Amino acid sequence: MKAAVVPAVSSSWQIKDVPQPQPGPNQVLVKMHASGICYTDVHLTLGHFPGPPFPRILGHEPVGEIVALAPDVTTRKVGDRVGSAWIQSTCGRCEWCQRGRRTFCPYMKGTGIEAQGGHAEYMLMNTDATYLIPDKVSYEQAAPIFCAGYTVYSGLRWADPQPHERVAVLGIGGLGHLAVQYAKAAGFETIAISHSPDKDKLIRELGADEIVRDGKSLAAAGGADIILSTSNSTKSMNDSIQGLRPDGRLVAMGADAEPLAVSLTDLIMKRIRIIGSQQNGPEYLYEALDFVAEGKVKTIVETYPLAEAAKAYERVADGKARFRAVLTM
Ligand SMILES: [Zn+2]
Ligand SMILES: [Zn+2]
Repeated sequence: MKAAVVPAVSSSWQIKDVPQPQPGPNQVLVKMHASGICYTDVHLTLGHFPGPPFPRILGHEPVGEIVALAPDVTTRKVGDRVGSAWIQSTCGRCEWCQRGRRTFCPYMKGTGIEAQGGHAEYMLMNTDATYLIPDKVSYEQAAPIFCAGYTVYSGLRWADPQPHERVAVLGIGGLGHLAVQYAKAAGFETIAISHSPDKDKLIRELGADEIVRDGKSLAAAGGADIILSTSNSTKSMNDSIQGLRPDGRLVAMGADAEPLAVSLTDLIMKRIRIIGSQQNGPEYLYEALDFVAEGKVKTIVETYPLAEAAKAYERVADGKARFRAVLTM
């Protein structure tokens, strides 16, 4: 089968012929239809995160159709449309697995990290790592939900928004364009914090009630109870905090290497909270997909055939993709 292979750290992606995998116990073989490229793929390619040795096949937004199953698989069938998120498998035995918080399992195998990812014609998925894609959601629409949509919707839910609260989204890109739509679809007054006026028209179309440029102008516009930070810039995150209302929560979902500095005045006198968030549990993925099935959230994607994976990767690495690049097979 053909796959987009990253041969070594910091090298460009190459299309290669690799052996087609066969399902082992508890696994299904998925004929890939679409695979989203996440900015995390850039970090992985550049070796920013620890992981197994290269070559690797990345891709943690994989969706497709089951074409074969191991004999012990009973909950999935050939023809099912499925996708898989960040967690491919965990040990099932540690404290965190037993608590149902698999994301903290020290033995977790990540999709496109320890396990082969989706940027290929076929991929093995562990059965319990597959999620059924609603019939009304196309593969291209579904792929970015398995990381970007899942992440931002988890962040919104983790902040525990209350009726009448205002939600701001910092950074309108692959994650942020979905965060604006989810906050709006969930019924909240939604403010976009965007530095680039060239995106304003589009941001309005996504449903934002207001657009501000920074934390100061967010404060001037009445502030936000929740800031969903999808930005990779710690500087922007720090700046946005001045737009948080008392008892406000900043939900951090992206990061660069800089530490986040929070003043004790903000922390104590305004009683703000800084919340770290990732993909916080399958119920949020289910809801995130359901919003798309209901037509309330749409992913805006650029699609590229697998053969053009290297080009698509460059678009993402340069921050030029509007808003998510998806490989199609
Ligand atoms: Zn991702
Ligand atoms: Zn475990």
